[in-house]
Amino acid sequence: MQNLKNSKFELIQMKPQNTQSAVVSIGDECVIFDPWGNATNWEKLLSERGLTPRAIYATHGHPDHIAAAPAIAKTYNIPWYLHNGDFRLVGWGNDLLEYFGLPKISIDDVRPTELEIKQTQVLPGLVMDIIETPGHTPGGVAYHFPAEHVLLIGDTLFQDSVGRYDLPGGDVKMLIQSIANIYNLNLPEDTAVVHGHGMDTCIGWLKINNPYFHN
Ligand SMILES: [Zn+2]
Repeated sequence: MQNLKNSKFELIQMKPQNTQSAVVSIGDECVIFDPWGNATNWEKLLSERGLTPRAIYATHGHPDHIAAAPAIAKTYNIPWYLHNGDFRLVGWGNDLLEYFGLPKISIDDVRPTELEIKQTQVLPGLVMDIIETPGHTPGGVAYHFPAEHVLLIGDTLFQDSVGRYDLPGGDVKMLIQSIANIYNLNLPEDTAVVHGHGMDTCIGWLKINNPYFHN
């Protein structure tokens, strides 16, 4: 991925393998996206890289995208951001975390901070747009870094398929509309697209290969 203004994007497949997380850093500061896995492993990873986390952002409230968020937020005393449409999902699906041998979470552990839908500077010099993408969940969002040409799309769209819409709060019409909205942004073809699961792609590749990516 591109390296602009010394920003560095690192995709992390934390054990047990399931979800794609991301760490975006400038110098020794970073923000974390969709922290899957155990918080202890995150602390180890951050300390190995000499990184201090400033915030955590979730693309949506499913347990496989927020598993370690409350615990990391507590350890470093930082906010973890979630769209308020997904607040009620926090704590739902704890059986999935149990299945993977991870601690259960609850909205009362460390409450999420409501995500404001606006352009924001997540680290000095690192600008991020927040795009609402309801459908997979009511409060799903995508995170776009216009200068770096990176889009974190969560579970809205995968390499060659779409996210599920049969889970609580899912809505197929909204999901289709959200995908069309992303398509209509006309992002540069070389924009790297990071999916919540599976390999990353780019906008140009999705236009040719993903039958669901259209307006
Ligand atoms: Zn999901």
